[in-house]
Amino acid sequence: MNKKILSFLISVTLLFTACISIPSEKKSVEKNLDAVEALSAKTAYEFNLAYDSKNHQLTGTMKATITNCSGDSWNKVVINDWATTPYYAEKKYPDYAPTDFSNTTITIAGEKIPVVMQRQNNLTSLEADAKKDIPDGETFVFQTDFVIHIPNFEYRYGYSIKDGVERVALGNALPVLALYKNGEWITHSYVSDGESFNSEVADYDVTFTCPPEYEVVMTGIPEVVDSTYHCVENCIRDFTIMLATHHTTYVEDYNGLLITVLGNSDCAADLPKFAEQTKTMMDFYTKLVGPYPYDSIDICLLDLPAGGMEYAELVICNTEQAFETPQALAHELGHEWFYLSVGNDEFSEPWIDESITSYISILYMESLGYDMTDSYVKKEYEKYYDICGSVSAMTDDKYYRMSAYSYGPTFLRNLNELMGDKAFNAALQEIYNTYIFKQADTQGVLNIFRKHSKKSIEDLICRYFKEK
Ligand SMILES: [Zn+2]
Repeated sequence: MNKKILSFLISVTLLFTACISIPSEKKSVEKNLDAVEALSAKTAYEFNLAYDSKNHQLTGTMKATITNCSGDSWNKVVINDWATTPYYAEKKYPDYAPTDFSNTTITIAGEKIPVVMQRQNNLTSLEADAKKDIPDGETFVFQTDFVIHIPNFEYRYGYSIKDGVERVALGNALPVLALYKNGEWITHSYVSDGESFNSEVADYDVTFTCPPEYEVVMTGIPEVVDSTYHCVENCIRDFTIMLATHHTTYVEDYNGLLITVLGNSDCAADLPKFAEQTKTMMDFYTKLVGPYPYDSIDICLLDLPAGGMEYAELVICNTEQAFETPQALAHELGHEWFYLSVGNDEFSEPWIDESITSYISILYMESLGYDMTDSYVKKEYEKYYDICGSVSAMTDDKYYRMSAYSYGPTFLRNLNELMGDKAFNAALQEIYNTYIFKQADTQGVLNIFRKHSKKSIEDLICRYFKEK
C-alpha cells in the first residue's frame, strides 16, 4: 500500500483513539532554496525515470534549471555520475556499463546549444563545453537523456535477486551538478568503503515508474497513481529510490513526521518496532542538535555488506544488525543531521559527517544504558591516527574506519568532557543552525567549539588534528 493512503487511514484512526503519542519537538524549518547561501549554484531538477526490470536499467530524462552563484564565469558544466564508478568497472560486475548520456543541451539566454558530455578519467564525472560563457548570476537550463545500467551487486547501489526476491537500491544513482568551490569543480571519484559525495541542496521534482510488483520508497512523500510515483521536495542534498519485490511497508504518522519502514514481507510484524525506535532517535537528535527539517523519513531494511547508508529522508539499514541492536539505525539516522542537513565534503573532511554522527549516536545509545566504551580509541593507539585526513589519504580501510568511527568520536568525547554538556550541546546546535543546507568545514566547526568553550581546546585540537 502506498504510504500516502496509509497515512490518511492512520490519521483517521487517530481521531478515534484516545492514546496519542506525546508531540516531538519538531519545529518547521524554512526550506527555501532562494534563502540558502549557496557555494556554487542553485539548482531545480526535474527527473522523469522508469525502471526496466528486464534489463535492470534506469532510463530517464533530466532537466536542471541552474543559477550560477559561484562568483566566477563558467564555460562548461560538470556533472557527477556516481552510478558510473571505477569500483564497479574494476570488479567487473555483471551488467556493468557506464551511464549512457544523449541529447544533451545547454540553454543560455534563450539559445539552446547541443553539447557533448565528455567522460573524465575518474569515470565518475563528465564535462560539457558550454560553447559560451555562463556569467555569475546567470540562470541556464541543462538537459540530457540517460540510461543507467544498474550493477548486479547487493549494496547501497545495485540490484540483487536472491530466493526469488529482487532488491534495487538506487543510492546516489542520479546524475547531479558537481559542486564548484574556490575556482574548481569538485569531482571526487567514488569510494566503496566510505563516502566521496558532496553536493549542494537542490529542489527536486521526480516522476518514477516501475512494474506493479515492486514496493517502492523514496525521498519525500510521493503521490502515487498506479505504479507512477511523483514527488516534489525542496532543499534536499540528494534524491534516492529503493524498490523490492516481496517486501512490504509499515507507515505511521508521528505528529506530522511520516515514518515508513520497508522490510521483507516475512518480517512484516516486526516493522512497527523499527518505527518506535525511529521516533525515539528522531526526538533525541532534535533535542540535542536541532529540529529535523523534513516531513518524512524512510527506514529500508535490506541485506548489505555494511551497516547501512544515509540519504535525504531515507536510510538503509542492514537487516541482521538492525534486529540485533539499535546502533546501526541510530547511526544512519544521525546522518540526517550531519551530511544531509549540514553538508560537508565527505571525501576531504570525513570527520565532520562521520565522526560527529558516530558521536551523537553513541550518546543516544548511552542514553539507553548501553556501554559504548569500545566505540572509543584506547590511549595506546592514539598516536597512530589523526582525524583531518581525506578519504584518499587513508589508504587502508582500517585507517579510515578507525579515524572516522573511533578516533573522531574519542576527540568529541574528550571535547565534551572538557567543555561540559551545556557548552558542548550549545556548540552542536550552533553548528547545525549555521550550516543547515550549507557546507561546513573543519575550521568553521572548530571555531564554534572554541567560541562556546570556557577552557582552551587547543591542546585537544593539536593532539587529534595532527596536520592543523
Ligand atoms: Zn556513517
